[in-house]
Amino acid sequence: MLDKLVIANRGEIALRILRACKELGIKTVAIHSTADRDLKHVLLADETVCIGSAKSSESYLNIPRIISAAEITGAVAIHPGYGFLSENADFAEQVERSGFIFVGPKAETIRMMGDKVSAITAMKKAGVPCVPGSDGPLNDDEAKNKSFAKRIGFPVIIKASGGGGGRGMRVVRSEAELAEAIAMTRAEAKSFFNNDVVYMEKYLENPRHIEVQIMADGQGNAIHLGERDCSMQRRHQKVVEEAPAPGITEEMRKFIGERCTRACIEIGYRGAGTFEFLYENGEFYFIEMNTRIQVEHPVTEMVTGVDLIKEQLRVAAGQPLSFSQSDIQIRGHAIECRINAEDPERFLPCPGKITRFHAPGGMGIRWESHIYSGYTVPPHYDSMIGKLISYGENRDVAISRMRNALGESIIDGIKTNIPLQQEIMADENFQHGGANIHYLEKKLGLQ
Ligand code: ADP
Repeated sequence: MLDKLVIANRGEIALRILRACKELGIKTVAIHSTADRDLKHVLLADETVCIGSAKSSESYLNIPRIISAAEITGAVAIHPGYGFLSENADFAEQVERSGFIFVGPKAETIRMMGDKVSAITAMKKAGVPCVPGSDGPLNDDEAKNKSFAKRIGFPVIIKASGGGGGRGMRVVRSEAELAEAIAMTRAEAKSFFNNDVVYMEKYLENPRHIEVQIMADGQGNAIHLGERDCSMQRRHQKVVEEAPAPGITEEMRKFIGERCTRACIEIGYRGAGTFEFLYENGEFYFIEMNTRIQVEHPVTEMVTGVDLIKEQLRVAAGQPLSFSQSDIQIRGHAIECRINAEDPERFLPCPGKITRFHAPGGMGIRWESHIYSGYTVPPHYDSMIGKLISYGENRDVAISRMRNALGESIIDGIKTNIPLQQEIMADENFQHGGANIHYLEKKLGLQ
């Protein structure tokens, strides 16, 4: 097993990684910014290194400082968590070149999947169903682009190959708007992502977001752990996630899961990963792959019983997967509500001191968070302060446990989105299951 590991992240995921390390007997190094001295995992780690100021570019995004911290503490591996440098191929490459283990796939895999055109090409080749599209970059040949769009059928969406975070996309509903939309998306892509490659896809009007969790050891073994439904979104940000996805049969799970695992073997994938799909009229359409652990991984853990972070660490230590596909059974239902420090009416971040805190509990409740009474949420980072996960033998039980747990939670001193989550859990359409990605925005009057 790994001897000592640097946790190159903050907040709840840093604490989650620390807990897994402790279980496996791995020593931990918490790196942090000057704004994060009081983070829960920093207080619990074996060693800590303050690597810079509150600004992310001076700390959590600063590659030389993170690698230096690994060097001076004698760590052997670095876990990037999610966000920050977790999908930065240059970081993975520099970590490995400096003689450390990167907990994740090879740099070349991250690079290939970070470029959407090359990711889609690889997935098509591996037999993963994709959105009908231009099958490659668009050039400025107007006649050719028009014929692509006609073949696909309007509406289409123009997307930046290097895009992320829901930016660099434009929906086009008629031929007359096409050339200008391509030019505008290209200019945006150049300025946001320093990459002006754009491509075209069919725009799906009312899809759900369904994603498949996979785990591979880079030694020829890959398995899938079923799917999650993350359709409850606001501005392309997930708000509620659940596993399994309502209405997905065992047969469909097997169909899409097998295609994902086959693709993992073909690209030599290593570690945890997620294939994201849009799902409409019974069909899956691949949109992108995330080459890291995701925020919503606990719902999969609850229904499969697999500890995904521990498995990531085992794979990073060179061990083969500790389970096979036939060991994975989906049991019961799990829901995750992201708890954000924000004004629930105006959706603005609401940092500050937590004067009183009481965690919810009871059967089937899991609370993943770094906050405590007296902790001050700094204004510099993401507003997510915790994840509340409920589990039950079926979806109705998971929902009622979640409603109880939201009602029990006490987080005083700052505003949170708990009222919004309560509203979603009480919503008839959510309770019915299977709402599409526009549902929440429509409900909130934002669309
Ligand atoms: P990003 O990397 O920026 O998150 P994605 O490719 O994952 O970009 O797409 C983000 C979101 O944009 C999707 O969850 C979906 O809401 C919307 N979207 C992307 N492609 C399509 C499409 N072909 N049809 C309809 N909506 C789409």
